[in-house]
Amino acid sequence: MSIDIPFADPSAGVRLLRRDILDAVAKVLDSGRYILGPQVTALENEFAEASGTRHCVAVASGTDALELALRANGIQPGEGVATVSHTAVATVSAIERCGAVPVLVDVDEDTLTLCPNHLEKTLAHHRQRPKSERIRVRAVIPVHLYGCPADMMAIRKIAVAFGLSIIEDCAQAFGAALGDKPVGGLGAAGAFSFYPTKNLGAVGDAGMVATDSESLAAALRSLRQYGWTRRYISDARGVNSRMDELQAAILRVRLTQFAADQAHRDAIAAQYTDRLRPLPIRLPPVSSRRSRHAHHLYVIRTERRDDLRRHLEENGIGTGIHYPAPVHKQPAYAHLTGHIVGGLPVTNNICRQILSLPMFPELEGHQIDRICETIHRFFSDGL
Ligand SMILES: *Cc1c(COP(=O)(O)O)cnc(C)c1O
Repeated sequence: MSIDIPFADPSAGVRLLRRDILDAVAKVLDSGRYILGPQVTALENEFAEASGTRHCVAVASGTDALELALRANGIQPGEGVATVSHTAVATVSAIERCGAVPVLVDVDEDTLTLCPNHLEKTLAHHRQRPKSERIRVRAVIPVHLYGCPADMMAIRKIAVAFGLSIIEDCAQAFGAALGDKPVGGLGAAGAFSFYPTKNLGAVGDAGMVATDSESLAAALRSLRQYGWTRRYISDARGVNSRMDELQAAILRVRLTQFAADQAHRDAIAAQYTDRLRPLPIRLPPVSSRRSRHAHHLYVIRTERRDDLRRHLEENGIGTGIHYPAPVHKQPAYAHLTGHIVGGLPVTNNICRQILSLPMFPELEGHQIDRICETIHRFFSDGL
């Protein structure tokens, strides 16, 4: 049987807005401004409003957003940046691209986001090492993985105690909040991705940095374009990470639909949780007034992950695994193992258990029914 319920469907949302998107595209084509123009500025302002931050700086991808946020915070080559190994490789790659050293930390067993206790233990350990071997950890990147906010209260306390800047990786978490504060404004800066399958998706690559700091925003505007503050004169060693007018115009159209999209994701997650609760599988955390989940992915956990995945596939249902191997177990990143304090038991264990069910706003009720029935059958038939 071929897959007729895909795991994700980035074209579905675009199709619904096709007319408005085509109008927006035509306007850009006729305008003659194709990069960092009025559409980008308007998107920056609208996104600042939506993310509850003072300034937003549009860049070319989520990875660039992380890298430039670190650089704007003054992170120097050789300095340490703590983050999780259970994340998209982009988080770690951004750290190495500014010459810094990723110091990998375990995740919390419930939220699968950065474990504050292990962060503290890791920082204390690195601080005690002989000077020649010591990594000076200057920043931490909590990843709001799957759309679930990390424990920012605890992380902020540790960051203050150890003098770290906080850069939030919000690539999967636009729409998430702690209390009434959206993610992205809970540290020095927040990095967002508009990769097509993210909660707010472009039709190509794009990203954004959000910050309340005017000086950080100014540094980011310079870094994204060759380090210019004046044309053709570089005051900093910047890069080319500009956003296209076309992507900005399309993102603005999609942003008008975002609240409705998010409501659909919330409803789908609630339906899954309701239907799957009786089964011997571990379900993701649900939203509360304290912590709002953006439901970028709906990730269940079971020791029988591979069999369940095959069963779903045989019944035409696509799934994903985010991610099959933690970053430090991937061939290019084995060198990071030496900086890990005491192993990463939760990280190493969960990657065999996690399974991402279909999740996108246009997923229909009867499809969710079929997915849940298929999972029920797997457990009741003792397959
Ligand atoms: C998608 C993603 C990124 C990178 O974003 P790109 O736009 O693909 O560069 C970074 N971190 C996480 C957690 C992501 O999911």
